[in-house]
Amino acid sequence: MARIVMKFGGTSVANLERIHNVARHVKREVDAGHEVAVVVSAMSGKTNELVGWVQEMPKVAGAKSPFYDAREYDAVVASGEQVTSGLLAIALQSLGVNARSWQGWQIAIKTDNAHGAARIQEIDGSDIVRRMGEGQVAVVAGFQGIGPDKRLATLGRGGSDTSAVAIAAAVKADRCDIYTDVDGVYTTDPRIVPKARRLKKIAFEEMLEMASLGAKVLQVRSVELAMVHKVRTFVRSSFEDPDAPGMGDFLNPPGTLICDEEEIVEQEVVTGIAYAKDEAQISLRRLSDRPGVSAAIFGPLAESHINVDMIVQNISEDGSKTDMTFTVPSGDTEKALDVLSRSKDAIGYDVVQSETGLVKVSVIGIGMRSHAGVAATAFKALAEKGINIKAITTSEIKISILIDGPYAELAVRTLHSCYGLDKT
Ligand code: ADP
Ligand code: ASP
Ligand code: MG
Repeated sequence: MARIVMKFGGTSVANLERIHNVARHVKREVDAGHEVAVVVSAMSGKTNELVGWVQEMPKVAGAKSPFYDAREYDAVVASGEQVTSGLLAIALQSLGVNARSWQGWQIAIKTDNAHGAARIQEIDGSDIVRRMGEGQVAVVAGFQGIGPDKRLATLGRGGSDTSAVAIAAAVKADRCDIYTDVDGVYTTDPRIVPKARRLKKIAFEEMLEMASLGAKVLQVRSVELAMVHKVRTFVRSSFEDPDAPGMGDFLNPPGTLICDEEEIVEQEVVTGIAYAKDEAQISLRRLSDRPGVSAAIFGPLAESHINVDMIVQNISEDGSKTDMTFTVPSGDTEKALDVLSRSKDAIGYDVVQSETGLVKVSVIGIGMRSHAGVAATAFKALAEKGINIKAITTSEIKISILIDGPYAELAVRTLHSCYGLDKT
């Protein structure tokens, strides 16, 4: 007997038939004698609808500002998961499985005060563990917890993955299974590149990079938690027949295992390609080249909660003036330009230029640490397709390249084949 946390994402619980199918997956594990806690997302599309309503409300009410109270955003958007947790508990009970739903505050999943993007700080798993011991399945609403202000807090988009891994750590689960609409982690988004290959295993650090560079199959924070707490995490499909052979294989379930790099025998140089759309580039021209200028630019941007990503500064020609270019999410462009214009005197620049609708494609692989020439291969392949590179950043295990939006899919496919990742 083992203890398993099973998480089901939005498409897996998109309608009542799918929730019934999810209940069959859960029943399979219960019948095998395991203790089970389930984490669910909102039905697919529901969170987007709720977020849309929150954004519309101030306009409809004639408010001057589009801003709204983040605590009320959380009160609204957390409701999607409440619905699915109740429905799945009913579906399980209908199959004769003892189950009950849990909201974040009932457990309690305690978070910090960052409404809309809260971080889990503490989970008291004792109630769930006791009831699992009595044979009851805990069906937990993902994406939500309770803040120090005693109000609902949500964990940022895709946050149910994080709920699942955090609960798995809290109840010391033997395994955390993330069920989704693809049957594992692929070398790149299989919806963009049909030739993408499913990985049997991927190292934590690579998954962390893939997730932070745009592969939304797992929320970044869930990977961090799995790595820190050594949670054995699998990504697998909810769409397979719950009773198909091998589905209940405890040691070797179908899907992709996220694990320590030592566990991976055949390490490729490049493991995957990720992409992030809707990036914007901002350039400050003829900036004075003196100590403190970067702080004068990025300090105010950080205070305004603008996430700056790639930063490139030119070498000054004459020691007095230089150029600085950086990227922000497209949606933050106006806000960033506003901040920069207000700090113009403190920074000291001539003009600011911006361009939206760009895409960042990234090549990821632990093998890059010990192999030269990986970047050159990417540059050559992109050049052959006539794709212009606007900015480049690298780290030990990744290369990120900024390009024009319309080239995104071509670039992802090109990089995928140039490193021999295509399925044969
Ligand atoms: P869920 O609703 O189950 O949380 P998500 O939509 O958040 O599912 O994540 C699953 C999606 O992630 C897939 O449908 C796929 O399009 C996308 N994806 C992006 N990159 C990858 C990748 N490298 N491997 C697998 N899926 C990926
Ligand atoms: N329902 C939330 C979202 O759409 C959380 C999740 O699905 O993980 O972001
Ligand atoms: Mg998700």
